[in-house]
Amino acid sequence: MSEQAQETVHFRACNLCEAICGLQIRTRGDKVVSVKGDPDDPLSRGHICPKAVALQDLHEDPDRLRRPQKRVGERWVEVDWNTALDEVADRLAGIHRAHGANSVAAYLGNPSVHNWGIMTHSSAFLGALKTRSRYSATSVDQLPHQLVAYWLYGHQLLLPVPDIDRSRYILMVGANPMASNGSLWTVPDFRKRLKALQGRGGKLVLVDPRRTETAEVADEHHFIRPGADAAVLLAMLQTILGEGLARPGRLRDLVVDLDAVGARIRPFTPERAEAVSGIAAAEIRRVAREFAAADAAAAYGRMGVSTQAFGTLCQWALAMLNIVTGNLDREGGVMFPLPAMDLIKGAGSKPGHYAAWTSRVRGLPEFGGELPVAALAEEILTPGEGQVRALVTIAGNPVLSTPNGRQLEQALASLDFMVAVDCYRNETTRFADYILPPTSALEHDHYDIVFHHFAVRNTARYSPAVFDKPRGALHDWEIFDQLGRRLRARLQPHARQPMVRRLGARLRDELMSRLPPHRMLDHSLRSGPYGKRSAHKLTLSRLRQAPSGIDLGALQPALPGRLFTRDKQIHGLNEAITGELTRYDGVLAEQQAQASSGDALWLIGRRHVRSNNSWMHNARRLVKGKPRQQLFMHPDDLAARGLADGQRVRVSSRVGSVDVEVQATEDIMRRVVSLPHGWGHHRPGVQQRVAAAQAGESVNDLTDDRALDALSGNAALNGIAVTVEPVPAADGEADVPAAA
Ligand code: SF4
Repeated sequence: MSEQAQETVHFRACNLCEAICGLQIRTRGDKVVSVKGDPDDPLSRGHICPKAVALQDLHEDPDRLRRPQKRVGERWVEVDWNTALDEVADRLAGIHRAHGANSVAAYLGNPSVHNWGIMTHSSAFLGALKTRSRYSATSVDQLPHQLVAYWLYGHQLLLPVPDIDRSRYILMVGANPMASNGSLWTVPDFRKRLKALQGRGGKLVLVDPRRTETAEVADEHHFIRPGADAAVLLAMLQTILGEGLARPGRLRDLVVDLDAVGARIRPFTPERAEAVSGIAAAEIRRVAREFAAADAAAAYGRMGVSTQAFGTLCQWALAMLNIVTGNLDREGGVMFPLPAMDLIKGAGSKPGHYAAWTSRVRGLPEFGGELPVAALAEEILTPGEGQVRALVTIAGNPVLSTPNGRQLEQALASLDFMVAVDCYRNETTRFADYILPPTSALEHDHYDIVFHHFAVRNTARYSPAVFDKPRGALHDWEIFDQLGRRLRARLQPHARQPMVRRLGARLRDELMSRLPPHRMLDHSLRSGPYGKRSAHKLTLSRLRQAPSGIDLGALQPALPGRLFTRDKQIHGLNEAITGELTRYDGVLAEQQAQASSGDALWLIGRRHVRSNNSWMHNARRLVKGKPRQQLFMHPDDLAARGLADGQRVRVSSRVGSVDVEVQATEDIMRRVVSLPHGWGHHRPGVQQRVAAAQAGESVNDLTDDRALDALSGNAALNGIAVTVEPVPAADGEADVPAAA
């Protein structure tokens, strides 16, 4: 047999980001030969980004852990799975018994939602802990989206997405899909889809403090002062309602209090917004009128507007813009996808709940059973009943991805016990007592459970494993199954219940936990919207016969049927939003004073298409070339401080300082500086061979655990006040650029 003949083509959905692109992966033996886009995938249509090759790099990475690791003093030693799982269960159960359930905390990182084994099986394990000390990357990201969806539509996952393939106008705020490939908006090949929209005579208007990669392809870009988005969005809403441009159409009967919304937002004029945002009042009015007049328009905002002090108000204003113009649930507007495995209407649906309890130290509200992660460090460091003494992290690196990472490091060092389910010894997991590494993405099958809920087209695709599971390895779901069983046995949570109920609950947990993910998928597909009661008759077996996936059609209007509110209506205002509008009215005056005085700079983050948060910088093909971790700063701001392009500067905030190289660019608004997130790999004890020149500094050594969106508790990572000055010569750093 020739070498060529031994090649096998595998069809797979990429699980590295939210775009879930279809891939064709060629292998020979146990080696990947190539990774290409799958032109027959009905959603991604052949598109991939440079990160796709990282699936190979991550699989082959010699630094990726393959066996359980135990920390013994300063050393790490390999142990067998049974020893590791028994000891972890013993330690967690011991702390749980001695100090109460809430003394054991859990944190789930962003890759958790891209991994179906974690999605299907971590809940049973976490349920065995019965802790209220649960945290995740949600509260440094999209919590305001979910809170607004819960309040308006009754379910935290009912997030309408721009129907870009039929839209004629997109108003985009604080989002960069050219770098992210879409977020809470699964839109593979955004560029081609945008070109088609523009070809139909449509338009993209972008509002962002930086002239981003998306600004390059937009029809208009407006600089905005970080943190002023709520003022601009409310002013647009005020213009539309005040000038009688609202045309909610059939939504008028669905939305209970449109008139009350109009009265509440009257004080938020475009003139006030201009004073804090830097966008002229006339431009705010013009864009608002254009948006209201467009045939099919969508307002969308992402990280830039969620991770700021009024993130929930921003998301509420965006939702109301879509509602008052009749663009919610309308072709070309924003629509609700209908996935084949439906977490919204399916069994075990979790609509959400808000402020059912609060954090122990600062009194921050829970949402959907999770507390804001900005409170995690203080919950570990503050003594008293309920103090967190043990931590489980799952696919997470909160030292680099949550605010005030240095404080969290101190907290992690003080824990009695920590276990990480993770494939790397990273900046966070180096504090663990145990690291339990699952198989690589190519060694297990996959179905994207989450991101079909936010996709621009309804499709389904099952991905068999590319390689067999190595001997002695465990998949994520097997780790959770085995840990959960051990914990349940030790904690005996049903001890006080009657014998029959006790055994019944135990049996159910055990059986569910032992079911592999693909069995759960098959059950969900059969009982889902395209299952046995539909014309599609979708089953796992049908998906296996369509390796590039199955097209389930364009998005369809779904209201009021899909609403989860009790009365099947949308309540535009509630007490919390009304109170926040009143508070923001007062804060605007303060923002105006800040905007026009002093020399404070506002820090924002940024991302790059070749980077994925904190965890893929070991993929050499992605990080090679010129370092990308510079601080972006406007030339006028450099000149005002006597600084030069390329110089090393010290950036300082309330919580800390980092020294970085500065890069002059007119692509950023004056008085705004930008550092990319996810870097800072120079910490000791990390087993990742990121080159020193590419280690970068962590933007979260500057972000502030005290800076939050008050309503949701989401971290306000953007709009942090900082100073920038030369690195003092006494610190041994050159204070002029090498080339100067
Ligand atoms: S855009 Fe996202 S899903 Fe598509 S190839 Fe790149 S990383 Fe993978």
